[in-house]
Order: sequence, then structure tokens, then C-alpha cells
Amino acid sequence: MKAHDGMYIDGAWRPAAGADTITVLNPADEQPVGQVPAGTAEDVDTAVRAARAALLGWAATPPAERAALIGAVRDRLVARKDEVAETVTAELGAPLPFSQAVHAGVPILVSGSYAELAATHPFQEKVGNSTVYLEPVGVVGAITPWNYPLHQIVNKVAPALAAGCTVVLKPAEDTPLTAQLFAEAVHEAGVPAGVFNLVTGLGPVAGQALAEHEGVDLVSFTGSTAVGKQIGATAGAAVKRVALELGGKSANVILPSADLAKAVNVGVANVMSNSGQTCSAWTRMLVHTDRYDEAVELAAAAAAKYGDRIGPVVNAKQQARVRGYIEKGVEEGARIVAGGAESPKDKDKGYYVQPTVFADVTPEMTIAQEEIFGPVVSIIRYEDEDDALRIANGTVYGLAGAVWAADDAEAVAFARRMDTGQVDINGGSFNPLAPFGGYKQSGVGRELGAHGLTEYLQTKSLQF
Ligand code: NAD
Repeated sequence: MKAHDGMYIDGAWRPAAGADTITVLNPADEQPVGQVPAGTAEDVDTAVRAARAALLGWAATPPAERAALIGAVRDRLVARKDEVAETVTAELGAPLPFSQAVHAGVPILVSGSYAELAATHPFQEKVGNSTVYLEPVGVVGAITPWNYPLHQIVNKVAPALAAGCTVVLKPAEDTPLTAQLFAEAVHEAGVPAGVFNLVTGLGPVAGQALAEHEGVDLVSFTGSTAVGKQIGATAGAAVKRVALELGGKSANVILPSADLAKAVNVGVANVMSNSGQTCSAWTRMLVHTDRYDEAVELAAAAAAKYGDRIGPVVNAKQQARVRGYIEKGVEEGARIVAGGAESPKDKDKGYYVQPTVFADVTPEMTIAQEEIFGPVVSIIRYEDEDDALRIANGTVYGLAGAVWAADDAEAVAFARRMDTGQVDINGGSFNPLAPFGGYKQSGVGRELGAHGLTEYLQTKSLQF
């Protein structure tokens, strides 16, 4: 894999301040695929200064020109789609067809949507005797995770640039090669120097330096709730804007009238996708007591069919963490009906976890409360709709979910009572314009579409 040995700052690849490096491993075979510099507070400072210097010019660039440049970035992502997919597969271990369709495909949709929004969004409005200007917040510090390496980056950088903000990105240490490829795409598109900057490095070093930097006006973070709380506290103390996309423990609520086989099969597929490393994954399947046994059988059969087809999880730590949760589930009395903590027999290399389904899960068990971030489904029984709602809303999270019923209206009525930011009705499908983000401890703020753009804007009203 191609890897740069510097940081992309102020329009060029520049040597890092220190000599430390990060070796990127392919989680499918544990072999090194590249090495990138581990940035320090000094690199972050240089990048933030470059972003600050570029801010006035970029903010004053007409939205139509910003839109054209975001469109040009999108076009580069289209032209280099195969390379993006291969890079994500190399550093995340995702099967190549999934990388092609999702990891490389979805960022094209999202960047395309922001090229359009930048051109059409009203950056000014009249309210009575006032004119309200929607102005960029300023310099954005973007900190992203490894689970959807390019999607998470584009979800922040595209709306920030559309709004007229400049950006310093600190991507996850497991997946920096995709971030370097994105920086190349930005450069090839002709985005002016300093508007987008990349500092690779470790979270507690480069990430923390970025979150704490006084030259950053908004920190946009996606990752664990633990780090999110820390970043929120730091931003709060500095009265700095913050956007947090954190964990989830989403409920897949199958109402008694639903097509059970479809709801269970799609539900299991949703969790197995990306080896369960999706913050919005429907990891709790809620089934009425009368249809519970049938659902367990269907889910076990669905998971068994995945066999070896899912990729590994991202690293050894994550593998141990997921297996630890599976062991905890058994300890607390849940029943494994597919998979388990042991490795598939034919794979002695790679950070694999078997597609796993638990039955007899009660709402208070650890595996029903905490985010596992692996291919594990917990099937929970409910007695009636109120019980289902109580269980669905009974975690600290509220990121996503699903409701299945014989007709959409019944499912919508239930979904409206859920404390969660996004719900798929009878299947649903990805909409790059729909706001995505959490209720409760799943986060603060929204990504995607016009709501995602608004995160990067502040208002100034002039009275006449
Ligand atoms: P993490 O929160 O540790 O890392 C996410 C990003 O934050 C990375 O870029 C990391 O380098 C950076 N970071 C880490 N510590 C930091 C600090 N002190 N200051 C500033 N930045 C810091 O998450 P992880 O280790 O990648 O994954 C752990 C868990 O987080 C997962 O098991 C999962 O539960 C959750 N997670 C959620 C999402 C999501 O999309 N909501 C994505 C990935 C992981």
C-alpha cells in the first residue's frame, strides 16, 4: 500500500515534527501494510495555523465555487474508487465487494450531496426586520474512527467545506492510509492550500492536542462515548462548539404483525455488516413472546449462513473485547444459539469473531446494555408494546433503530415513541440527506444533509 511519510498541511506533504511512526496492520492476516508518521502537538499546531490562515479566503469564496470544488473532490473519489476500496480492505479487513459498495461508494453519495447543498443552501434569510447571515464557525478539528474510514471523514469534511470552514483532520490510527488517499483527492481537486489539513497520529497525543487547541473553533468527533465525554468536557470548559457522534445499542423492534422471517433476516444482516462495527447496528432484536422461539431459530440459521463470509474485526484489542462480551453473556445466563467466543477453526491468522446470536437475553444484561462493536445479536423477549418500548428506550444510548409491522403506519406510531435519532421503517434504505445522530448519550448534533451543514454554521443577524 502507498503511504506518505509526512503530514498534508497547507497544500503539501510536509515532514512530521517527530520521528515516531504507526505501523498499519491488515486485520485479515496481521501483516503490515504501511507506515505513517505519528503526529505530535507540534504538527497539530502547524496544521491549525495553516487552517486559520486559509479561513478568511475560503469563507469569502462564493458558495457556488466551494460547491464546484467539493464536486471535484467527489469526482476524484469516483475516479479512484477501486483504490479506496482496496485501501479500506487492506487496513480494515473488510471483504472487497463490501468495500467497493459501501466504504468507497457511500462517500461518493455524501460528497455529491454536499456539492449540491453548498450550491443551493440559503446562507442568508430574512426574519421580519432582520437579515440573518449563516456564517462558517471557523476552524474545525475533525477526529474520526476506523469503522467506516472514509465515510466518517467525508461526513465531516464535506459539510465543513460547504459551510466555508477550514479543517484539520486526525483520523483513527488503525486506518490512516484511507485518510491519506482522501488528502490526495482533495489536493487533486484543487482545493486551496490550508483549507484541508491532515495530521495522522495517536488519539491521546495528536487527537487530544487537536481537541484542546485554542485555534480550533469546533471539534467534531466520532468514536467511543468515553472519549466523547472527555472531548465534550474540554470543549465546554473553553466554550467551544462541539459535535459528538458516539456509541449505540439500537433496538430492532419486531411487532407481532410483522413479516417475522424478513425482519429477522434483515436484522441479522444489519448486525453482521462490517463485522458488527457499525455504531447504528440493530444489536438488540426485540421479539414478542409468542413468536420468540421461531425468531431465535430463524436468527440462528441466518447467522450460521454467514459462516466465514464476514471480515475480521479491526485489531487484536477489539477481538479480545468482543470475545470478552460473548463470555460475559454466557456468564450472565444468555444462551448462544449461533457462533461463540472461539475462533472459526480454519482461520489461525486474523482477528476474526464468529457471527454470534444470543437468546434468553434480558434487558439488564451487559450484552443488552453495552456497545459490543462486533458481530453479536442479542434477542430479547417482550410481553406487549409498552414492554417493548420500555426495553427499546432502556439504555443510555439512542442512535438508531428499526421497527417492523404489517403496515408502515403501525410501525411509525411506535417509532415516534422511541428515544432515538434515526429509525428504519420496515427495512428502510440509506438516505444521504437524512440527519443522522443520537439522542441521549449517543451524541450531540447531526451529520448528513442540511442538518449536518448547519452544524458548521453560526448565525449573525442584522436589524433594520
Ligand atoms: P476511540 O473513541 O478511542 O477513537 C476514535 C477517534 O478518537 C480516533 O481517531 C482516536 O485516535 C481518537 N482519540 C482517542 N482518544 C482520544 C483522546 N483522548 N483525545 C482525542 N482523540 C482521541 O474509539 P476506538 O478505540 O476507535 O473504538 C472503541 C469503541 O468506540 C468501539 O468499540 C465502539 O464502541 C466505539 N466506536 C464508535 C464509533 C461510532 O461511529 N460511533 C466508531 C468507532 C468506535
